[in-house]
Amino acid sequence: MSGKGASGGRDGSDGHGNAADQQGGGRAGDPLLVTRLLTRLVDLCGTASPSRNEREVADKLRGEFEALGMRVREDDGSSSTGGNAGNLIAELPGGLPERVVLAAHMDTVPLAPGEPLAPIVEGTVVRTTGRQILGADDKAGVCVVLELAARAAATPFAERPTVVAVVTVCEELGLLGAKHLDVAALRADHGYSFDGEVPVGELITAAVFKEDVTFTVEGRAAHAALEPERGVHAIKAAAAVVAAIPLGRVADDQVLNIGAIQGGGSTNVVPALVSMRGEFRSFTAERLEELAERVLRLAQAAATEHGARLSVERKRLYAGYSLPADAVPVKRLVEAAGAVGIEVSTVSSIGGSDTSIFNQKGLPTVNVGVSMHEIHSVNEWIDVADLARVVAWVGAALGLYRR
Ligand SMILES: [Zn+2]
Repeated sequence: MSGKGASGGRDGSDGHGNAADQQGGGRAGDPLLVTRLLTRLVDLCGTASPSRNEREVADKLRGEFEALGMRVREDDGSSSTGGNAGNLIAELPGGLPERVVLAAHMDTVPLAPGEPLAPIVEGTVVRTTGRQILGADDKAGVCVVLELAARAAATPFAERPTVVAVVTVCEELGLLGAKHLDVAALRADHGYSFDGEVPVGELITAAVFKEDVTFTVEGRAAHAALEPERGVHAIKAAAAVVAAIPLGRVADDQVLNIGAIQGGGSTNVVPALVSMRGEFRSFTAERLEELAERVLRLAQAAATEHGARLSVERKRLYAGYSLPADAVPVKRLVEAAGAVGIEVSTVSSIGGSDTSIFNQKGLPTVNVGVSMHEIHSVNEWIDVADLARVVAWVGAALGLYRR
């Protein structure tokens, strides 16, 4: 879906663009911007912050936000994540009535043991040694947030919105930091999240609902040699359940996986219990429910046929979202794209991110693609020239001055 051709004023904030930005200030090729982004990204990627161990990076970011004159607080997110840092919230007041959230997450996937964090710079690309993670997911997003906050600080008070930078913890553990965050307390009108692995220009305006599911298959134990006839074989029944249900991409908008199986015990006992854990994903609650009901019916029939009992436990992990084309952050970005030479498209994501939680909690937020490559692997890389384009684009959309 193309975003081109949208029109109309910006809600409530007309006229806060500035001449510098209109006349090419948004150009992505700004060498100073690229250099700053490179330096900061290398520094952040060189500082470990796997989920639950974000302390060092949190302290570093607090210093950076404070240096911009922002009021910084850290919430008590560690009480629910079990980590050593909470979510950081940094606020820069502005004279325009609007309050805008700029968001990213500071945690990364776990480090490969025994290997140093040693990001390598090649031109404008930051990559790994091939033996350790990079963590540009989502430190690249953090760099964009810091750079935009700096632009806001350089913009006269009367011409800027209030900027609320939110850098969460424990995103990679299931959006735990965002789930803890008091989003209402931010009193924000809308938000931009910079955690999209998709190319620059792509806006993730819809994402899936996701549920955890546990199937427990209960048979009956019996001695495997003396009286196997008295047993009900839970592993055989569980195998029948797996064989009976569809797995993988069931439809374009429905996914089911079983990712773990556990059960049985001694080899001389007919196994009595098997549990299997999996997940459902779909873009609407209704389609997820349809999938779940169909799967549970098939699973139930298969278990019953083998004389076993099946119980199923479902747990909603997060709700999906779908932003309309006229949602403020989407409209702003579409309107500003032409001036910085970006072609916009909106996409749906089968994955989850903090953006899902922000939207679920009532803050219309778009997840902006920052062109991440091979995330969650030791081959991750990113081109900061892409980040510079994002900064120029979003900066223009918010009417912020160029530094
Ligand atoms: Zn991420």
